[in-house]
Amino acid sequence: MTFVFVSGDLALDFAGTLKWRRSAAPEELLTGPAEAARWAVAAGVLSTAPRLSTVEFAGLLELREAVYRLAVAGLAGQPWPPADLRALNAAAAAPPPRVTLTAGGVRRAGPPSAAGASIGAAVAVAAVELLGSLGSLTVRECALDECTRLFVDRSRAGNRTWCGMEECGNRVKAASYRARRATGADAAGAGGGAGGADGGAGGARGGVGRGAGGARGGADRVGGGAGGGQAVGGMAVSASRQAMRS
Ligand SMILES: [Zn+2]
Repeated sequence: MTFVFVSGDLALDFAGTLKWRRSAAPEELLTGPAEAARWAVAAGVLSTAPRLSTVEFAGLLELREAVYRLAVAGLAGQPWPPADLRALNAAAAAPPPRVTLTAGGVRRAGPPSAAGASIGAAVAVAAVELLGSLGSLTVRECALDECTRLFVDRSRAGNRTWCGMEECGNRVKAASYRARRATGADAAGAGGGAGGADGGAGGARGGVGRGAGGARGGADRVGGGAGGGQAVGGMAVSASRQAMRS
């Protein structure tokens, strides 16, 4: 299983590990404790994959769903679902992974007896920071109908459309190309379409780079502050409004 980090936020990337949420058969990327541990390493939360118990794993999936419901509620301007809010704050209160500087670089490790809680804490803290800032961030759902992934739009123009070009942007690009061929659309229409798609690609690439930084920042907080500051500069121009495609 390949994990992607395109949401520009650790908590949203975690929520995105359940894909195609509105479909009859959502795709679960965290198929077991080992996969959840692998995600934590890929996300930069921990340096090495811990052994998670099935109870810890179930707790992480519950937290993930709480984060997703809270995000959806926040984007719709609705009150936080109380049970999800309690779950989030409880998870955020656990000790996050310990960050130490070693000869081999930065090492991030949770207590062996509570590795699951430390992963949950890193995600929950990121979620608290994100959900508490929805008024000044632009968070969107991917524009591909079936895709339910949420991302922070930090594009300069504030017009990022897809969660990622590979998975969603290219699908739409190919579909619209086929549609234009079928209808014999004129050259001007085709040119406009291609330009729009290229813009999308730039946004997606930007999202990937910042997403990785955000994940690491979420884990050690200090990095998150520095990285976030840089991103906020770009966002302030483009975004003052929460947006979610309805
Ligand atoms: Zn998508």
